[in-house]
Amino acid sequence: MIYDEAARRDREDPLAPLREAFALPEGIVYLDGNSLGALPKAVPGRIRAMLKDEWGQDLIASWNCHGWIDLPQRVGERIAPLVGAAPEQVLCCDSISVNLFKLLATALALRPGRHTILVEAGDFPTDRYLTEGLAAFLGETRCRVREAPGDRLADALDDDVAVLLATEVNFRSGRRHAMDELTRAAHEAGALALWDLAHSAGAMPVALDACGVDLAVGCGYKFLNGGPGAPAFLYVARRHQNVVEQPLTGWLGHRDPFAFADRYQPAAGVLRYQAGTPSILALRSLEAALEVFDGIDLQALRAKSLALTDFFLAAVAAEPACEALTVLTPGDHGERGSQVSLAHPEGYAIAQALIEDGVIVDFRAPDIVRFGFAPLYNSFADAAAAARSLADVLAGARHRAERFRVRARVT
Ligand SMILES: *Cc1c(COP(=O)(O)O)cnc(C)c1O
Repeated sequence: MIYDEAARRDREDPLAPLREAFALPEGIVYLDGNSLGALPKAVPGRIRAMLKDEWGQDLIASWNCHGWIDLPQRVGERIAPLVGAAPEQVLCCDSISVNLFKLLATALALRPGRHTILVEAGDFPTDRYLTEGLAAFLGETRCRVREAPGDRLADALDDDVAVLLATEVNFRSGRRHAMDELTRAAHEAGALALWDLAHSAGAMPVALDACGVDLAVGCGYKFLNGGPGAPAFLYVARRHQNVVEQPLTGWLGHRDPFAFADRYQPAAGVLRYQAGTPSILALRSLEAALEVFDGIDLQALRAKSLALTDFFLAAVAAEPACEALTVLTPGDHGERGSQVSLAHPEGYAIAQALIEDGVIVDFRAPDIVRFGFAPLYNSFADAAAAARSLADVLAGARHRAERFRVRARVT
């Protein structure tokens, strides 16, 4: 029986106790940590302390006495080992969208004479929108966008490509790129590689330094569990620091913000990638959330993520009612992220029926139901319950109910 098998796997799972570090509601199977990570129990206390002892007590002096001013840097250093970065290359700030603008412009400046940004067809929209926004802003003579399918990116590189922008794990299919190979291909063509780690950081080991990656961005509110709207992070390889300026020359990226000088002079290192005042509440939340990763073996985390998605895929395959679903997730472990994507023409309604059953998944147009597995807190019992619920919805055609046809703004 699948539930017995799941219980056995959970008993044998060395990471199972980590679930206790999260405040997950009873009776819910939460499989949307790839969209909004669950709440770590350490966060509320830290936020309360920040309100009471810092903002409430020491007011503006907190920028110095509680180190608020250094938080983007300090939280960046906590993220660095999760993405395989040596110190002084990661900064926690802004959103991925804003950081992409800064880093794409950086890449173009680092490759004068080249004008093309190569993007992947079907990548997350903001990556594409920001690229096109920057190209429109700079004008055709300075920046052009070229698109290629994920498996043809290396072939689309030529001597006009300044930077290849790729997301390690595709948000729709869950397909994972070989970061080392694609980065090498970009370098052989004389281009830089900018990686988006939105669906990898916190779910699996990432080796930015070892792969020779040039630039990267990543998300604070997905697998890092920093809370809704948590700041993102960016990575600039040491060899590319202090060479060029980034265009969002805000006062906190100045060498000496409190000199209030009339002329902008960039700070050294990644600090020049700060623009304006960060949200200290959001940084404190992410900082507390990251403590869950202390002492975690990322290889073990990856092994569990793969075991969970394997288990779920096998459970779905064993359900005759699930035959109508198309599995988009690669079978090969090397090509798989930490989610399972199943396509069905009635995907939106199926996702709503699952959510009504307490299996929290999400839907991505046009027809994809996503099951995100967060190896820090998801269990094999979660995977079993989701597969059973999915089979039950389909077998009873419960998703055909009228109420599941109405689309909410956030899917
Ligand atoms: C979630 C996600 C983002 C989010 O961008 P924000 O600007 O931080 O909202 C960007 N890129 C990818 C690939 C994502 O999955």
